[in-house]
Order: sequence, then structure tokens, then C-alpha cells
Amino acid sequence: MSITRIALLPLLACIAAVGPAQAGARIEVVFDDPAASWAAYYGDIQRVTVAAGNAWVDSFQSIASGVDLTVKIGFQGIATATGRSAVASWIGTGSDGIPLYQQGAAHKLVTGIDGNGAAADIEVNLGIAGYLQGELWFDPLPAMRLGPVPQDRTDAMSVLLHEWGHALGFNGWRDGITGELPGHYQSTFDALVRPQALPVGSALVFDGGQARSLYGQALPLTWGSYGHLGNAVAGADLLPDLMNGVAFQRGTRYSISALDLQVMMDLGLPMLAAVPEPGTAALGLAGVGLLLLLGRRGRFRASGAEPAARRLHAPAGRPGGSVR
Ligand SMILES: [Zn+2]
Repeated sequence: MSITRIALLPLLACIAAVGPAQAGARIEVVFDDPAASWAAYYGDIQRVTVAAGNAWVDSFQSIASGVDLTVKIGFQGIATATGRSAVASWIGTGSDGIPLYQQGAAHKLVTGIDGNGAAADIEVNLGIAGYLQGELWFDPLPAMRLGPVPQDRTDAMSVLLHEWGHALGFNGWRDGITGELPGHYQSTFDALVRPQALPVGSALVFDGGQARSLYGQALPLTWGSYGHLGNAVAGADLLPDLMNGVAFQRGTRYSISALDLQVMMDLGLPMLAAVPEPGTAALGLAGVGLLLLLGRRGRFRASGAEPAARRLHAPAGRPGGSVR
């Protein structure tokens, strides 16, 4: 797949910058920053947001012709970052008879059907309690990812790839502990989540057939934040994954993994079977094992990207407000 480079455009508050992605997809970034307080970061944020989106778009076998996705970047006094689709789109009924909703951004990307008109498709919030200012490192060439990530910084490209992962699939409405649905609706991710008995109590797992075939069993989900993979105890081998819910190491790049793609396929999305860019190859299971052999777990530093306490934000757009 081709590497897409974008031309940075002058940015003003709430003025869009557009970068082309593959196959006619366009990724647009707008800023919800009325006083332009964070304008100094717009260029960096736009660059990594578009590159992260392109990486995901390039992981699809096919997308709707001429489709565009708009990402709205907000700034909040939080310690890390959040991301989600703005709406969820009804796609049918699950085998359990419960209505099924796909993340709106993924639905739009594949079908071209926009669930919320001119409004942004994806909402990302970046923490301004020091995270944006002192923690994130913005790769000058995020599509290529060549230079070393500073050892004292979290790679913003990795963070945006992670938030795109939520916006496209890793999200739902279940209670993060009990797994209970709040009502008679579920996301495509929810539909494959179930409790699994442990020696004491139970934990939530993702039990999609594609993911299971690669991992060998249902995927352990992060305790209390189940739109993520892995835990420090159960599922520690998943902690190097882009979509882990425990922490990002500083000085480290995370990429879309083969396992992430299998999860997306389980959600009904037409993903490529393998990660498209060798240079940005993800931590597949072999990579996970290698990292463990290298003892990276012992140096695992909580950088604040995804502390265990950070709960997955439920997607906006409850079923009643969604568009088919
Ligand atoms: Zn997350």
C-alpha cells in the first residue's frame, strides 16, 4: 500500500485541514477550540491524526468511493486522550435478538452512509493537564515513523492510532465490570463480549472467531475498560498491543496489529488479513512473545496513555438517535 504524505495547510481555529488518504478517502481535521488556545499544536495534531487515519484506511480491503471522514479534536483537562465515533449506526439484529450498531465512522467508511450529516464523524479529546504539552511527542514523519521516539515521551501517532481503533470498532455500551448491557441495544463489539469464569469471579473476554483463531482463545479484555485488550495479570501478553488498556510505554511506537485486524474482521469489517505496511508492522503475537523474551515488561512504564483507571468512553448517539 502506498504511503500517503500530506501537505500541511495553514490552520485557523475551527478551519479544516484536509489530507488525502487512499482510494479517494479524505480525512479532515477540525478543532473545537473557540479561543484558539491550542493553535500552536494544530499542525502537529493534524499531521498525526491524518497519518493515523490513513494507516487504518489502508488496512481495509475496500472502502466506499469518495468517502470522507472528519475528526473533531477537542481539548479537555484530562490526563490522557479519548476517542470515539460520534454516532453508532444500526446494521441489523444480533443472533441474540438484540439490535446491533456499528461504529458510525466504520459504517461510513465502508458504506458511504453518513450517520450524522455534516457533523464530525469522530471525536478525539486530548488532555491538556500536561499530556499535550509535556507528554506527547509528535513524529515529524508519522506515515514513515523513522526517527526514535524520545525515551521520556509518549508517541502521539500511537495514541491517535489507538483512538481511531476505538472510533472504528473497539467500543460499546456494556458495563466494564459486569458486562451488562444498559438497554436493548449493543455494538458489534458488545455482541462478541462475554464473561469468562476465573478461579475467583469472572472477567470479560472478546470471543470473535477470527481473533480466537489467531490468539488461540478468547481475548482477555481490560478490567473496567473492556474496549481494550489485556491486563497486567490475565492477558499480560496483550499489553504490547496498540489496543491494550493498561499503559503505553514511553519511547515506543505502537502499530495496528494483526490481532487488531482480526477483531475488526469479527466486527464485520472488510479488513486486509495482514498489516499492510511492513515498516509499521504491528506487534503480532510473535512480536508480543519477542518483547516478553526481551524483558520489556520489566521496563513497562505507565506513561499515562491508557492508565487502568481510564474508562472507555461510551460512544455518543444512543440507538434512538442513530441513523441507519
Ligand atoms: Zn483506549
